[in-house]
Amino acid sequence: MKDGNPPFPAPELPAPEMGEPYLLTPGPLTTSIEVKRAMLRDWGSWDEDFRALTADLRRRLLALLGNQADAFECIPMQGSGTFGVEAMLGTFLPRDGKVLVLANGAYGARAAETVRYLGRQVSVIDKGDYLPPRGAEVAAAIKADPAITHVMAIHCETSSGILNPLAEIADATAAAGRKLLIDSMSAFGAIEVRPDEIPFEAMVSSANKCIEGVPGFSFVLARRDAVEASKGNAHSLSLDLYAQWTAMETTGQWRYTPPTHVVAAFIEALKMHEVEGGVAARGARYAQNRDVLVTGMRRIGFETLLDERWLSPIIVTFFSPADPAFDFARFYELMKRQGYIIYPGKLTLVDSFRIGCIGRMDAAVMEGVVTAAASALAEMGVDSAAPPEEALAERQKLSA
Ligand SMILES: *Cc1c(COP(=O)(O)O)cnc(C)c1O
Repeated sequence: MKDGNPPFPAPELPAPEMGEPYLLTPGPLTTSIEVKRAMLRDWGSWDEDFRALTADLRRRLLALLGNQADAFECIPMQGSGTFGVEAMLGTFLPRDGKVLVLANGAYGARAAETVRYLGRQVSVIDKGDYLPPRGAEVAAAIKADPAITHVMAIHCETSSGILNPLAEIADATAAAGRKLLIDSMSAFGAIEVRPDEIPFEAMVSSANKCIEGVPGFSFVLARRDAVEASKGNAHSLSLDLYAQWTAMETTGQWRYTPPTHVVAAFIEALKMHEVEGGVAARGARYAQNRDVLVTGMRRIGFETLLDERWLSPIIVTFFSPADPAFDFARFYELMKRQGYIIYPGKLTLVDSFRIGCIGRMDAAVMEGVVTAAASALAEMGVDSAAPPEEALAERQKLSA
C-alpha cells in the first residue's frame, strides 16, 4: 500500500463488529461500510446525476486496461456475471462462428452450455476438475479445426481456484489469428488483464468480485472495432451488448431499469480500489491473504488441492480431512459461529472445501480464519486434518 493511504481495513468498523460474519466466498463478498453507505440514496435512472455515475463507471473501468484503453469500450449489463458471459458470447460470436471453450471447472462448463443454448457451434477442451488448459493444446485444437473463430478462456476458474495460464492461451490464439474472449469474473481488478500484454477481443467481469461492490450487474470491456462489427449477432433483446452500447453512447442511459443503488455503490468501490493503489495493490493484498491462509492451514494439517504454481490469490481449495470425525456441515456451522462463512467444494472425485481471499479483509482476518478452523477441528474431535490418500494421488496428476 502507498504511504499516506488510510489504514486497512477501512477506518470504519469491519463487518463482524456490525454483527455480520466475514464472507470467505468468491462474491458476494465482504464490502466496506463506505460501499454499503453509498446505497442510502435513491436515483432517477434517466436523471442527469445518474447518467454522470454511469459515465464515471465506464471511464474508471476502461482506465484499468492500461495504455490501450482508448481502443476499448465498456458496456455494463444488468444481472449477475452469468448474464454478462451470455451477453458477451451472444454478441461477439457471429451466427456462423465457432468457439473453442477451454474448460477446467464449473465456469468453463457453463460457458460451453451457454453456447449450446445460443445454438452456435462449440468445441470444448475439457481438462476435468482443475488441470490447466495449455497454450500448446489451444494451438493444436485450432490447427485441427479451421472452423474455430474464437477461443473462450476462464481466467481464474473459481471452482478450484486455479489461475489459468492466460498469457500463453492468448499468445496461441493470436498466433493462429483467432479472437479471444475472457471470463475474468473473479480476477479482474486484482490481476492485470492488459491488452498490450494479453491480446483479447472482449472480457467480462462483475460488480461483486475483486472490485468489492455488491451484486447486480456485470460489465464487458471489448475492442471498439469488435463492438462495431457485432451489430445483428445477438440472440437476445435484453442481452444485446451492441444495442446496450449504442443506447449508452447516444442517451447516456442503460436500456431498461438499471440497478441504481448497485451502480452508486460500485463507484464508491472503484474509488477505494484506486486509493488502495489499483490492481497491483489489490492483488498484493489478496496474495498476502492467501499466503497467510495457506501457511496457517498447512500448519494445522490441511493440504491444498493445487501446488504453489497454480494457486490464485482469489480462492483456495483445501481437501477435507480423512479423519471420520470430520463433517463439512458441522465444520461450516462452527466456522460461522466464529464469524466466518466458508464455501463448499466443487470437485467431483474427492471431498473438499474452499476459502476465499477476496473482499474487504486483510491478513489479520485470515489469521482469525485459521484460529477458528483449529478450534472447529478440536470441537469435532478431529485429530488430524490430513487428507485421504486418494486426494494426494489425485494431486500428483498436476505435477505429471
Ligand atoms: C462468479 C463467476 C461467474 C458468474 O457467476 P454469477 O453467479 O452469475 O455471478 C462466472 N465466471 C466465474 C469464473 C466466476 O467466478
